[in-house]
Amino acid sequence: MKIGVCVKVAPDTDTRIKISGDGAGIEESGIKWIVSPYDSFGIEEAVQTQEAQGGEVILFSAGPKDWQTQLRAGGLAVGAERAVIVDDPALAGTDPLGIARVLAAGIASEGCELVFTGKQAIDDDNVQVPAMVAELLGWPHVSFVTDFSTDGSTFTATRNVGGGTQEVVTGSLPVVITAERGLNTPRYAKLPAIMKAKRKKVDVKSLGDLDLSADDITPAVQLTNFSLPPERPAGRKLEGDVDTMVQELVRLLREEAKVI
Ligand SMILES: Cc1cc2nc3c(=O)[nH]c(=O)nc-3n(C[C@H](O)[C@H](O)[C@H](O)COP(=O)(O)OP(=O)(O)OC[C@H]3O[C@@H](n4cnc5c(N)ncnc54)[C@H](O)[C@@H]3O)c2cc1C
Repeated sequence: MKIGVCVKVAPDTDTRIKISGDGAGIEESGIKWIVSPYDSFGIEEAVQTQEAQGGEVILFSAGPKDWQTQLRAGGLAVGAERAVIVDDPALAGTDPLGIARVLAAGIASEGCELVFTGKQAIDDDNVQVPAMVAELLGWPHVSFVTDFSTDGSTFTATRNVGGGTQEVVTGSLPVVITAERGLNTPRYAKLPAIMKAKRKKVDVKSLGDLDLSADDITPAVQLTNFSLPPERPAGRKLEGDVDTMVQELVRLLREEAKVI
């Protein structure tokens, strides 16, 4: 079975984001890039499924070919067989539907029967791409999955719904599954696997290689600018003995913060 995983590379979670001068993006210098963490759950589940059912795990990315560094470290070194990166100047400025069109075309061209994605990318947080990929492929989609199994032709997936209730969904492959935290514990790469991953195949494709053109990924929505939240005012230090500080604190809470 060919198992696909959609993998986005995103700034590390502890990165301090700075807005670029024109407000249209972020300053990329100094950013540590990682596989988006929810995608790591997707990769682990794909590798576990491949270990149980056989076949191969293929990573799909729509982004710069430089992402292969993170795909090798976070995907090929933990069991994925190869990767396909679609790198094309037209990707700059596209929207979730454009990204989904590219991924769906790549997945279809490889003949995958099962696809895992993260539930959301940790940078843009749109939570749109997986459902669109499923729709474009004409496949069912199960979102926010915390447990998954397949016998190679049917699948069972568990989702957490409100108040701790769990929903169990069954169906037939092919299917797109989006990974929620708790689905598994992603393994760490071992040194020999890291060395082996350097030799694994990464195909860099253009839109044309997938019979797509820039017109196919013209954005329906456009990102116009970014802004950070306003700076928080500096804290205030109260002085004096305990009685004085308590009185002053009560006064400030009543007169300035107006919370009592
Ligand atoms: C090269 C590049 C240039 C861009 N330029 C612009 C721009 O100029 N203006 C603008 O508005 N937006 C731009 N984007 C952002 C892009 O539109 C968003 O990445 C897209 O809208 C998807 O939203 P999201 O990342 O929040 O995905 P979500 O829907 O939150 O992602 C959910 C899951 O879908 C999969 N996924 C999402 N994106 C990718 C991907 N690229 N490759 C593989 N899997 C993926 C992952 O499994 C992820 O966990 C650019 C993106 C790229 C890659």
